[in-house]
Amino acid sequence: MEPDFYDTDDLVAVLTTQPLDRLLDYRAPEGGCAQGAFVQVPLGPRQVLGVIWGPGQGNFDPAKIRPVTRVLDAAPMRDEMREFLIRAGDYTLTPMTQMLRLATRAPGLSDPPSMQKVYRLGDTDPDRMTDARRRVLNVLNDYGGLSFTLKELSDMAGATSSVVKGMVKQGAVREEQAPRDTPYPPMDTDRRGNALTDGQAEAAGRIAEGVRRGGYGTTLLRGVTGSGKTEVYLEAIAACIAAGRQALVLLPEIALSEQFLARVEQRFGAKPVEWHSGVTMTERRRAWKMVGQGAAQLVVGARSALFLPFRDLGLIVVDEEHDTSYKQEDGVLYNARDMSVLRASIAGARVVLASATPSLETWANADAGKYDRVDLDARFGAAVLPEMRAIDMRAEDLSPGRWISPSLARAVTARMEKGEQSLLFLNRRGYAPVTVCRACGEQIGCDHCDARMVEHRFLKRLVCHQCGETKPLPEACPSCKVEGKLAAVGPGVERLAEEVAVAFPEARAAVLSSDLFTSARALKQAIADIAEGDIDIVIGTQLVAKGHNFPRLTLVGVIDADLGLQGSDLRAAERTFQLMRQVAGRAGRAETPGEALLQTHQPDHPVIRAILTGDEEAFWSAEAEARRLAGMPPYGRLAAVILSATDEAAAFRAGQDLARRTAPLAAISAQVFGPAPAPIARVRGRHRVRMLVKADKGVALQAAMAKWVGQLRPDRDLRVAVDIDPQSF
Ligand code: ADP
Ligand code: ZN
Repeated sequence: MEPDFYDTDDLVAVLTTQPLDRLLDYRAPEGGCAQGAFVQVPLGPRQVLGVIWGPGQGNFDPAKIRPVTRVLDAAPMRDEMREFLIRAGDYTLTPMTQMLRLATRAPGLSDPPSMQKVYRLGDTDPDRMTDARRRVLNVLNDYGGLSFTLKELSDMAGATSSVVKGMVKQGAVREEQAPRDTPYPPMDTDRRGNALTDGQAEAAGRIAEGVRRGGYGTTLLRGVTGSGKTEVYLEAIAACIAAGRQALVLLPEIALSEQFLARVEQRFGAKPVEWHSGVTMTERRRAWKMVGQGAAQLVVGARSALFLPFRDLGLIVVDEEHDTSYKQEDGVLYNARDMSVLRASIAGARVVLASATPSLETWANADAGKYDRVDLDARFGAAVLPEMRAIDMRAEDLSPGRWISPSLARAVTARMEKGEQSLLFLNRRGYAPVTVCRACGEQIGCDHCDARMVEHRFLKRLVCHQCGETKPLPEACPSCKVEGKLAAVGPGVERLAEEVAVAFPEARAAVLSSDLFTSARALKQAIADIAEGDIDIVIGTQLVAKGHNFPRLTLVGVIDADLGLQGSDLRAAERTFQLMRQVAGRAGRAETPGEALLQTHQPDHPVIRAILTGDEEAFWSAEAEARRLAGMPPYGRLAAVILSATDEAAAFRAGQDLARRTAPLAAISAQVFGPAPAPIARVRGRHRVRMLVKADKGVALQAAMAKWVGQLRPDRDLRVAVDIDPQSF
């Protein structure tokens, strides 16, 4: 048992965010410090951030132990968070120092309060307008009234801090003390929400009752798009806040949050606290503190919000729980959906997993009785599910370089005549996925990755979707040097937009693809324009598949329904099913029925058939049975090791080395596959080799993996990452 408080000069063990594999001993500062306090400690010549983890261990020379420099102005880490970090670290095989970094994402946490200055728009124009000054003003204008730290502002404007300081002198920029601890306006849970339908009321009642009762529990809230899932979980949030506890809503996409924020404001008379990469550092620091003091009642955020220091977390909602972006694929490899369940079970909180197309993992947990399941069966009001039909492309008359079949074109025209919107869905960014030389057959690839470069005509460049590398489209083929023979092959959304312009010259068209927007704001604006009805034809990627409300959209045309069915990924069927159902769900709301047309070359493929009939239970049961027979997740367990090195042979050698020393895995009867090139075989000049481990459920997989991988002797070049529950297999 740790004491709650350490007196001046007591020995304390500090966990820092530095890559060390042990705790460090210090002396408690003048005035003592609390267990869990966030502190600054000296480490060599530097000052680093840490947390008082427990009593000192005394395995250092007592004469050399230095005192803690300063206790930071933040609520001490609660036992609950500490346990979460330990268990999440154990699960993902991540060192504690790295876990702590996730929990201390508050920028400026280690700055003393007096250093926190922020900058906002001043009252006068600068005396002389330079480009750098104009950029500073643009940033301040764009974010209407928000203030930034010096570093934020200069980074965003691409100007040096002395430019900003100079503008302060002239009065063009105002320097102020950072607003500290300004409370958020309270949420009013007594306001009336919408009158719920019987089905919604029953679902809301069941979930809210769990929230009021307190204690851990997870509910799958399943319902087609538009059935009122958001409406239902807003009531659970109301119950949570009314009980004096805090609620967290995770959304898969920042662009989604705008509509949600507006709904929260409408329901509770105040906006929730936002937490994602688009929030300024000043606001994030405020959010981090307020959440810790229990003064933030509702947080809406990206997966990292799970590591906020909630004082009394009562409810976590994971919206679109099947979304693959909940898996963090960089740094700490965790799935925010699974970690929500862990966090809630420690905090004694409820979890709501909401989806129209749950992941097979969640479906199976509900099937096994581990999760409660609540279904909303009908769409709200008169709205009905879109009618879904296949367009058999084998029977369509289509010239080469064209992708909109005559049948689909007729349907689009019919909608335009009625003043309704159509969505053409193609999950491919850019102009063309492949650029090939007609002289030698060479396909232009990325110099750093094992990926083809995608032509983006809008940017006038070739882009690697793996690493982001771009280069101008060359005149001559890089291989055979013949000029003028490079040709675009296959469609991307930009190319589809060209076809739309030709086929529907009067139509107002908009392309919705993440790379075409320079800022989250521009994207939000485009989404708002579509919702207002200023657009006839929306051409979109995956971005549009996610819960936006477009009331006048009544037709969805899927350009290539077969796209996701290719490839060897065992999840391909599940993904395609989810994506097609989600996209189709965009069509038809309120009183206007929708229609979804799927262009396919294989209308009899079982997955396409399941999509068309919409018999979800049958689809899930069949998919579950296939996974069960194969011993694959969620009925078996998988883990992967990614070995990466600049020298491909070295990565393979490390893999072969591991393949020879599998005793720790044999002990749990696990199978080992590989080494083989990883699904993404080369990224940023590093070759990636993957080993896949398959085990039964219920074995101590992490311990065995740690032992197994621990046999590798790391060197300068070789990097090793363990991925528990990999997304693709
Ligand atoms: P989901 O989250 O399942 O997609 P929403 O909660 O967003 O569904 O509901 C879809 C639309 O129907 C929204 O515009 C919502 O405001 C409206 N709606 C749903 N239920 C009700 C209700 N009981 N009263 C009024 N409007 C409702
Ligand atoms: Zn690349």
